[in-house]
Amino acid sequence: MSFSSQVKNEISKIPLSDNCCILCEISAVLRMGGHFHKQDNGYISSSISTENASFARRMITHMVHNFTLHPSLLVNKSKKLKGHTLYSLDIKGAHATEVALGDVGLLQLVDKNRALFVPPEELMGKECCLKSYIRGAFLVSGSINHPEKSYHLEIASSHEREINTLCKILQELDIKAKVIERKSNYICYIKEAESIADFLNIIGAHHSLMEFENIRIIKGIRNDVNRIVNFESANLDKTVNASSRQVAAIKYIINNFGLEVMKKHLQVIAILRLENPHFTYTELGQLLTPTMGKSGVNHRLKKIEQLAEQLKEYHG
Ligand SMILES: [Zn+2]
Repeated sequence: MSFSSQVKNEISKIPLSDNCCILCEISAVLRMGGHFHKQDNGYISSSISTENASFARRMITHMVHNFTLHPSLLVNKSKKLKGHTLYSLDIKGAHATEVALGDVGLLQLVDKNRALFVPPEELMGKECCLKSYIRGAFLVSGSINHPEKSYHLEIASSHEREINTLCKILQELDIKAKVIERKSNYICYIKEAESIADFLNIIGAHHSLMEFENIRIIKGIRNDVNRIVNFESANLDKTVNASSRQVAAIKYIINNFGLEVMKKHLQVIAILRLENPHFTYTELGQLLTPTMGKSGVNHRLKKIEQLAEQLKEYHG
């Protein structure tokens, strides 16, 4: 079982008794993972899908018992999913559904194919609710690497605003979260072990947190030894000059993500730099149409280096 599944199974079993918390969890689930469609009858329907059976069960229970929402469950096990099972919860749009959503402050306004929600701040006055909101976000859209592999936790969604809000909420809790855009998906991610541990604590994954911390201690000892061994050899490395640094950044981007990941005007200068590693900025600028001064060229190459850094940080 993946570490993600382990964490989700664990937190799917946390009992919630207060309606406020259940509301916050469902709210996060629909905000992050919900797909909304306007039906022919004019009502908004919503669906979420997950590979985690415990989580699907938890959602159905809460929606039916606490909020008189009646999702229908679709179980999909196709070859395309490579043996995985996908559970989809469909909330059919009907007057009763919208009243139920509206009653609990989930759905404030319906505008074409979008459902607008009450801002999360209004829902999360209490600490219990805040935790529930973050838990819901992780349940529907989150994943975490096994700590033995690398420190990486992320929550991905196509809803940009929701991801930015979540990231802000986490940052206010002193968690080092960042946002990156990947192919029309927005990802809030955490790389720092300490922050991932805090996150697991907040969502109530205490058992998984213990396993995480144990592995972190063992890895820490291993790293200390490696650091001492590597110290000398690292010092021998020569400082690389700007051009070879830029060439390395460009090659990294092209080899791993393709040229297209860069904006058009950056692609042009990237190719020119690769072809002319020994040119000065002024000389490179002369090759552009229209020509460009050295500070402009410098600025664009800096942008490319920054992009490479961001990509590396995210995937590293
Ligand atoms: Zn609460």
